[in-house]
Amino acid sequence: MAEKIPLEDAYQNMAPKDVWKRFYDMTQIPRRSLHEEKVRAYLVSFGNGLGLQTIVDNVGNVLIRKAPTPGMENRKGVILQAHMDMVADQTPDTVHDWDNDPIAAYVDNDWVRAEGTTLGADDGIGVALAMAVLESATIASGPLEALFTVNEEAGMDGATGLAPGLLTGDILINLDGEIEGDFTIGCAGGEAAAIQVPYKETGLPGGMAAYRVAVQGLQGGHSGLEINLGRGNAAKLLVRFLKDGAGRYGLRVSQIDSGTAANAIPRDGSALVCIPWGREPDFLAHISEYEGILKSELGAVETDLSVTAAVADPPPRIMNDKAQRDLVNALYGTPQGVIRMSDNVANLVETSTNMGVVHAGDRAMEVENRIRSSVDTSIDDVGSMLSSVWELAGAQVEFSGRYPGWKPNPESPLVLLMSDVYMALFAQEPNIGAVHAGLECGTIYGKYPNLDMISIGPTNQKVHTTDEQLFVPSVQKVMDLLVETLHQIPLK
Ligand SMILES: [Zn+2]
Repeated sequence: MAEKIPLEDAYQNMAPKDVWKRFYDMTQIPRRSLHEEKVRAYLVSFGNGLGLQTIVDNVGNVLIRKAPTPGMENRKGVILQAHMDMVADQTPDTVHDWDNDPIAAYVDNDWVRAEGTTLGADDGIGVALAMAVLESATIASGPLEALFTVNEEAGMDGATGLAPGLLTGDILINLDGEIEGDFTIGCAGGEAAAIQVPYKETGLPGGMAAYRVAVQGLQGGHSGLEINLGRGNAAKLLVRFLKDGAGRYGLRVSQIDSGTAANAIPRDGSALVCIPWGREPDFLAHISEYEGILKSELGAVETDLSVTAAVADPPPRIMNDKAQRDLVNALYGTPQGVIRMSDNVANLVETSTNMGVVHAGDRAMEVENRIRSSVDTSIDDVGSMLSSVWELAGAQVEFSGRYPGWKPNPESPLVLLMSDVYMALFAQEPNIGAVHAGLECGTIYGKYPNLDMISIGPTNQKVHTTDEQLFVPSVQKVMDLLVETLHQIPLK
C-alpha cells in the first residue's frame, strides 16, 4: 500500500468526501491561536456564499445559521460547535511561517499527519464536520447553528466572550472530542486561589548549621486530569518534613521553593533550613527515615522519589518563631488532591484542589492553588476551606479566573438519544464520561444553563504535538452519528 500521500491528492477519495474537502481547506489556512483573521474570513465567506445568516460577534467568533429542511421546522434547535484556532508547534528542524504557510498534511494508511508541525485536526476536523452539515443539500435537520470559536487553546477567549442570548438552539454538540465513541457529558470549572503574605524574620542565631532539604523525583502532572493518580505533591511532602523537624530538633526555616504553576502538581521542592549544632545527627536520621516513610506510602506510584540534605551556606535570616509556626501549619493544613468523586459518572473526580506553587524567602511568601469542580457550589466550598486555614495564619486568599463547571447528567435527553443512535449504527455502547478539566462547553454552559450538551469527535491522537494524528475511519463514524442524531432530534 502506498504511503505518505499528500492530503491534497488523497482527500477526494476519502469518505465522507465533503468533510475531507473542508478539512483540507483548513490545513491551507494559517490559524494559530490569537491569529484567526484568515480562518474567520474564510468561514464568513463560506456562510455568505451559501446564503446563510452569518454573524461575527464582538470577540471574533463566527455564527452561521441554517434554516430547517422541509418537514423539520418544529424540531429543537441544534448548535454545532468547534474552535477555529489550533496549537502551533513544529519540530526543531522544521521552518514554518505560521502567518502564511499551509500545513503539509499527508495520509499514511489510516492516519492523517503533518510534516514537521501540529496537524490542527484539533479542531480543524470539528470545523470541517460542521461545515459539511451546513452545506449539505441532503442532511435533514431542524434549525441549525454552527458556532466557530476563537482562541480555545490559549485561553478560551471565544467561549468566555460569547454573549448570552446570541445562540437560539436548545442542544449543543461540541465537536472537539478526541476519541471516537467517547461521549463527554461534563467538565470541571475552577478558579485560582493565591496567597501573598509578608512575614517577619529574625537574624540567624549563633550555633546553627544550614542545609538544603530537597524532595525530588516525583512525577508531577496536570492538576486536574492527573490529580487522582496517587502522585505525591512535593510542596506538601516538604512541608510535612519541616513541621516534624521543627518539633523534634528545632529545625528553622529560611526559604521554601516548590512548584512552577498552580495547575501542575509540583515534582520537586527544596527548603533552606537551619539545625542547632549537636542536633545534626537527628536531622540526618530524619532525612533517611522520612525518605523511607514516603517510599512506603507512595513508592508504588512514585518510584524515583528521594529526600536529601546538602550542606548550605548559612542564611543571614530565618523566619521568626511565629511566622514559621503559622505558615508551616497553614501550608500543612491546606487541602490537597481529590476532595470528592462524582456520584453519577464512574471514576470522575468531581472536586479537587492543588497547591501548585510555594515560594517563601526574604519576608514574603506566595502560594498558588487551583480549585476544580464540575459542581459550582463545591468550588466555593473548597475556597472557604482555604480561606479558613489561611485566616488562622493571618493571611487572605485572593480568588481569580473563575470559570463555571458543567455538571454531568447521564440521563439527559440528548445523551440518551445519541447513545441509542450510536448503538443502532455501530452495535456498540459509547463510552460516557466527563473530564476533570476545563472545556469550552463548561464556559458556554455558564451562559446558557438550559442547553443540553455533549462533546464528541473523531479519534485524534497526540494533540498539541507534532505527532498529532487523525484516524481516518473515525471521521465517517462521527459524521454518521451526527447525521442520524440530527434526523432524530425531538420536537420542540
Ligand atoms: Zn481542541
